[in-house]
Amino acid sequence: MTQTSRAVRIHAHGGPEQLVVENVEVGDPGPGEVRIRHHAVGLNFIDVYQRTGLYPNAMPLSLGMEGAGVIEAVGAGVTHLKAGDRAAYAANPPGSYCDVRVMPAMNVCQLPDAIDFETGAAMMLKGLTAQYLLKRCPPVEGLNAGDFVLFHAAAGGVGLIACQWAKALGLRLIGTAGSDEKCALAKAHGAEFTINYRQEDFAARVKEITGGNGVKVVYDSVGKDTFDKSLDCLMPFGLMVSFGNASGPVPPFAPGILGAKGSLYVTRQTLFSHITSRERTQAMADDLFAVVEVGQVKIRIDQRFALTEVQQAHRSLEARATTGCTVLLP
Ligand code: NDP
Repeated sequence: MTQTSRAVRIHAHGGPEQLVVENVEVGDPGPGEVRIRHHAVGLNFIDVYQRTGLYPNAMPLSLGMEGAGVIEAVGAGVTHLKAGDRAAYAANPPGSYCDVRVMPAMNVCQLPDAIDFETGAAMMLKGLTAQYLLKRCPPVEGLNAGDFVLFHAAAGGVGLIACQWAKALGLRLIGTAGSDEKCALAKAHGAEFTINYRQEDFAARVKEITGGNGVKVVYDSVGKDTFDKSLDCLMPFGLMVSFGNASGPVPPFAPGILGAKGSLYVTRQTLFSHITSRERTQAMADDLFAVVEVGQVKIRIDQRFALTEVQQAHRSLEARATTGCTVLLP
């Protein structure tokens, strides 16, 4: 049975004005697929990279990699979901900015009854990212309670989740953010120290906070503007986890500087290398659901937009005008 759905698509890379709401045909799920009707959709900075073409894709492109709703139908071979189930996901290929879609079932998880749809839509991509950053990217000398870590953009979607989860793990998180208000928010969510990196030299301040030792891990999603100085924040054998480009991509650098700064490690991570199997996706999601259900991690949704207001939502995210998570409501 074919039905019509609204979907936000682009026909060319560019600014928010490229985002248009169109009607598309949605059919039945094929083998390994589900059809899901969204109750809420998550907005992520990766959607901006896909819109601008920093991460290029074939056109026309349906945007969005996160959502929550109700399963309408499942294709052959799908055993972990059935019609009527509440579900949520972070998944590639994009296409979650819509009412209803057909998509691969592998990354779609049952949403626990205690978690509402908006929370489910807001937390999957950002929460699974915080999960792998803190649990699946260990520095060579291990990451233990009491260790200092530096987390940039700590008041953002991924950032506020990471602040809370790091605290629950006993880590001493130093968070950077672009205003004093954002710093206060990060602190209220578990950052032990915060630095307004638009006003302060964050590397000097990190050295001061850590008594000159530096941090064991830097989590850097800001990219171009913070990468170099972030290396100066690390202790010997420390790990730089680069996982985003909010200020632009990190330019090429000579590996020799890693030796000079204390035999540092650098990795560039993406969630989509971690959620390549049903089993691992579910295990990571279960870990996330557990901390949300007991209240160790609260998913803060600070912005809600109608699906038709998607251009405005993108403008806000790019202008650094958001905090916490943002959802689009079909
Ligand atoms: P956020 O809510 O964190 O928004 C991005 C934040 O980055 C802004 O609010 C802003 O915070 C900061 N920022 C710093 N410089 C700039 C700039 N020049 N332009 C815009 N923003 C800037 O977004 P998300 O939670 O969706 O994602 C956080 C980051 O993590 C993104 O870079 C994203 O790409 C990355 N990510 C990577 C994943 C991966 O697996 N590799 C998965 C998920 C997210 P402030 O004003 O405080 O500086």
